[in-house]
Amino acid sequence: MTVFGENLARVRERMAAAARGAGRIPSAVRLVAASKKVSAARIREAAEGGQLLFGENYLQEAEAKMVELGAHLTWHFIGHLQTNKARQAVELFAMIETVDRLKLARALEKHAAALEKRMPVLIQVNVGREPQKAGILPEKAEELLREVVELPHLEVKGLMTMPPFFEQPEAARPYFRQLRLLAAELAAQGLLGRSGPVELSMGMSGDYEVAIEEGATLVRVGTALFGERDPQ
Ligand SMILES: *Cc1c(COP(=O)(O)O)cnc(C)c1O
Repeated sequence: MTVFGENLARVRERMAAAARGAGRIPSAVRLVAASKKVSAARIREAAEGGQLLFGENYLQEAEAKMVELGAHLTWHFIGHLQTNKARQAVELFAMIETVDRLKLARALEKHAAALEKRMPVLIQVNVGREPQKAGILPEKAEELLREVVELPHLEVKGLMTMPPFFEQPEAARPYFRQLRLLAAELAAQGLLGRSGPVELSMGMSGDYEVAIEEGATLVRVGTALFGERDPQ
């Protein structure tokens, strides 16, 4: 088995164990392989190993890989999206996980309408209130959602977050829980869950098991699958 294959098997096993331990069905949690800085050749190897869902942070890098790899893979955008790149993002991705402001949502709506596409999106929430991080503050999420759910070509699937970094994964638990509770509150108001079950994208290499225990439906895992990225 390749190193990637071994990593994938280990991550999937631990995901399933975390789900079962929390009384959840393992298939309710999807693995997004965070593949920034990973070559198309290695993504192909990952696909041959059975991983078909990838998350990319940079549009140009992602597009080059998509062109090379063809249409059988599914891609989520998980990076910071500039409004002037909205068209490209709508064209390329199956989901945009990082919508955190109305201006961006409106730009996505415009291009989705022009392309006659309904664009699945997540609202990114800055649960740790870190000034350097993207995402809307939790108390502003409702106001944003009230506007975004009215945009006919966007489908708000749920929430996404990147909590502060901790050495100890347990330390991230309150942030994951906060995202789950916020989603439940918004769903109770009819602002989430309009098009299927509510998605919670949370958890990375260091803390995906805790995130799954707290209700993650999407975990974004890079290093634990592909190894350390080259320093930039
Ligand atoms: C890189 C990245 C990940 C994956 O991080 P790892 O620690 O390598 O698993 C997850 N989410 C986002 C938004 C990322 O940019």
